[in-house]
Amino acid sequence: MSVIGYDLGNLSCYIAVARQGGIETIANEFSDRNTPCIVSLTSKERSIGSAAKTQIISNYKNTISNFKRLLGRPFDDPFVQNEMKDLPYKLSRTADGGVGVRVKYAGEDVEFSMAQVCGMLLTKLRSITEVNLKKPVQDCVLSVPSFFSEVQRRNLLAAARIANLNCLRLFNDTTAVALAYGIYKQDLPAAEEKPRIIIFVDMGHSSLQVAAVAFNKGKLKVLATSFDPYLGGRDFDRLLFNHFADLFKDKYRIDVRTNKRAELRLLIECEKLKKQLSSNSGRMTLNIECLMDDKDVQGAMTRTDFEALCAPLIQRVEKPLRTILQDAKLQSQDITSIEIVGGATRMPAVKSTIAEVFGMKVSTTLNADEAVARGCALQCAMLSPTFKVRDFTVIDCTPYSISLSWIAPMGEEGDMEIFPQFHPAPFSKMLSFYRKEPFALQARYTNAEQIHYPCQDIGKFCIDNVTPNQEGDGSKIKVKVRLNIHGLFSVIQASIVEKVCLGMMCNVCSSNLLCTTQAPVDNQTPNPEPMGESTSPGDTENKENTNANSNEDVKPSTEAAEKVEKKKVKVKSKDLPFHSQLYMNITEQEIQHMFEVENKMIMNDKLECETSEAKNLLEEYVYDMRGKLFDKYEGYTTEQDRTEFGKILEATEHWLYEDGEDEMKAVYVDKLAQLKQVGNPILRRYTEAQARPAAFEQLGGAL
Ligand code: ATP
Ligand code: MG
Repeated sequence: MSVIGYDLGNLSCYIAVARQGGIETIANEFSDRNTPCIVSLTSKERSIGSAAKTQIISNYKNTISNFKRLLGRPFDDPFVQNEMKDLPYKLSRTADGGVGVRVKYAGEDVEFSMAQVCGMLLTKLRSITEVNLKKPVQDCVLSVPSFFSEVQRRNLLAAARIANLNCLRLFNDTTAVALAYGIYKQDLPAAEEKPRIIIFVDMGHSSLQVAAVAFNKGKLKVLATSFDPYLGGRDFDRLLFNHFADLFKDKYRIDVRTNKRAELRLLIECEKLKKQLSSNSGRMTLNIECLMDDKDVQGAMTRTDFEALCAPLIQRVEKPLRTILQDAKLQSQDITSIEIVGGATRMPAVKSTIAEVFGMKVSTTLNADEAVARGCALQCAMLSPTFKVRDFTVIDCTPYSISLSWIAPMGEEGDMEIFPQFHPAPFSKMLSFYRKEPFALQARYTNAEQIHYPCQDIGKFCIDNVTPNQEGDGSKIKVKVRLNIHGLFSVIQASIVEKVCLGMMCNVCSSNLLCTTQAPVDNQTPNPEPMGESTSPGDTENKENTNANSNEDVKPSTEAAEKVEKKKVKVKSKDLPFHSQLYMNITEQEIQHMFEVENKMIMNDKLECETSEAKNLLEEYVYDMRGKLFDKYEGYTTEQDRTEFGKILEATEHWLYEDGEDEMKAVYVDKLAQLKQVGNPILRRYTEAQARPAAFEQLGGAL
């Protein structure tokens, strides 16, 4: 079984695999460990990853990049509307109100949902992994920004299914980094000692994430997370872009904002300049030939000027850093080290800001690009039954508080915070209700200010088949809710508590016979009572699900029999059906459909690849034969042979550039076979002649 970790960044992806010898990051078909998050569609096929990068300017309308941040968002989200202005490709509103992209693919106008685009990228990552491991891949752990909401997470899981991947866990970026950091540390404090506190900062292309993590031997616990989902390296690129776009307007009288190709070229050069300014403080230049209207442009900047230009962005870095100190109730002296990862932390001004806020030097011991993928692969190994990993418990936390509301029997509303912010996750809780009829619970994120998403709704969970007890009062209904391994909230079990009389005199129903009747309830309050609940046999008394290797799914259990009345009555639970209506849900049917569409595209890509291989083989044969026919094969052909075959080869060459430029695979294969019918006898005569002296020599030796 495969043990894979995928870091799905906004700009680039990394793949890590766990082997018996340890974790290794693997390279793509261009021998690059960094696979760009780009999907490009053409009239025939798709290019994904490094191959798509070459299309970013030439095929900009059909080349999709920077899409992770659009996943699972409603089209009307102000963030999407704002983002749309800068994107070179066209967004659309999908039938369910989500974000789609409109592109030309295989000669048609097509709409793909963001989950599909993400699925395409994951298909590519799977294929790179399969080529590397030389076996099919299914199980994996996928990284996810810790601030992703329910819908965004569900979309990512759907993308994994579209790509035929079985995602064992959506693993928060900074938790993955913490695992990659902690699992190899031999000197962590013992379980009963004060934990070692480390702050992890990951600033990538599009976001800034921070986590405060407590380590003890064999265990990590995320105390708090904070973030700015809208601050990353790309915002610095955009500032540089705006600076040079304005400058070139004055200096060269060109407005790159009116020309998409020029805009994209300048943006790419700005990113390069930004990176150069990280390692050079002197004056760095930016030169672009023929940027627009046949004009070559030149600009320059020093690090000091760059930092002055970006001061407002640098200032924004501080906020999540200060928030985490507050939220995790930490002071600088409590922290052992600050570990930074993510490409944007290479900027000296970012580094110094982090160091300043925490009052200590930052540590760059982790691999800034690969730490997330490595952590994901480690987590996958821990969740995989086939892999033996050192025991290490991972306790994550929910970034947002979650509340439930309901209509009580008297008609009044009930509302309760079920999981406060930074509550450990995964985690299950049991709630009790007293109800005579089916009822519904509405789950939502408690605070609009906490989430970085336009809607607080999570979903509605309806408990069915609820009936009054024997006395006509509310039956006791137990509802188990869970924050699962992917960070998703749901109802996972509902049951009705009944009393079973085992004969003799039953004080519930006064019968002498064996009977099943519902117990009277001594507490008629409709309010639920959340109770910490053990979800795995190894749970600790504070009820955290501490065993990262434990099976996430809590099996519905019938409660242990409980003697209640004179040893004649047992209390038992009977499972109740329930159903959920999740906000912006993707149905099974939709996932299945997108999976089939993806498979068709995979088949099409495969066929296109084979067609171009067949064409290349034919082309190579024509060139090779034409050259050799009048050279080394000359002595093995008659002049007539050479003239006739030469004409056929020349005609084939012309055909390849004209009528035969875009043919089906079989046509190229047939043409090559026809040429070989003429060419193979020549080749045979030549090969035999070459082998003759050696054969004579051997014969002579034998005589
Ligand atoms: P995200 O985590 O936001 O989804 P990502 O994981 O794809 O995105 P990273 O690969 O961690 O992002 O970082 C990419 C960003 O880091 C880009 O903006 C890139 O320009 C920037 N970057 C990389 N190297 C340097 C450098 N030497 N100096 C400045 N910025 C850099
Ligand atoms: Mg990243």
